[in-house]
Amino acid sequence: MKNLREMDGVSLPVHRVSTGLGEGEEEIRWTVKCPNSHHVVDLETCEGCPHLEHIQQEAAGPQRLLCHAEAFSPAPLPGEGNELLLPPQLEHTRVDELMTQDVYCVGEEMLAEELAELFATRKVSGVPVLDEDERLVGVVSRADLLRASTEEKDTPRLHPERAGATACELMNAAPVVVREGTTVPQAAAVMADANVHRVLVVSSEDRVVGVLSAMDVVRWLAALSLGDKASHTS
Ligand code: SF4
Repeated sequence: MKNLREMDGVSLPVHRVSTGLGEGEEEIRWTVKCPNSHHVVDLETCEGCPHLEHIQQEAAGPQRLLCHAEAFSPAPLPGEGNELLLPPQLEHTRVDELMTQDVYCVGEEMLAEELAELFATRKVSGVPVLDEDERLVGVVSRADLLRASTEEKDTPRLHPERAGATACELMNAAPVVVREGTTVPQAAAVMADANVHRVLVVSSEDRVVGVLSAMDVVRWLAALSLGDKASHTS
């Protein structure tokens, strides 16, 4: 029996990278993990690709992409053709296989008041900040702009001194990142060194392509461990 690749091509989920620009405006990038280049690519790249078969559109935007190539290239070993932040070690799972690809970002000019609302409504602790070319320039977190309150944990208020400031003025301009193609053990080492629970995954052009959390790594380790146990008992 033919498998899906041979018969119909490969059906890939389309991910949404949203950037809040302030005053309710939002820019959206749609991305796909390309089985040919093994990079996360914008949908416009696919639209010019001879392997594209079909993009499934729904009211909420593109959902899946069907692409067809005679043979997809195997994933390169870590370090081959990738600029890594750490020296390549052994062949391991890459961060882009585990990371979350739907990411919400903000523009540099988003005001503190809007960021505070964003943190309260989306229940996130930080967001990447992008410049006008959609390149990562920093990360702004709840702690950067909210006043700590022990009584009102769920409704933290904007720190009065931060009112009127922009994301660019409030952000940490040296966020913890790893490159696409970094292995999961390398990314885990980066998180442990920096004492953070998540890292942004960026392309070689400094575009945000995903987020990897410590929980993603824990799930991956649990799956490996279960797989190991199954192979020893079979
Ligand atoms: S259409 Fe082309 S660029 Fe897009 S995912 Fe398929 S092979 Fe990659």
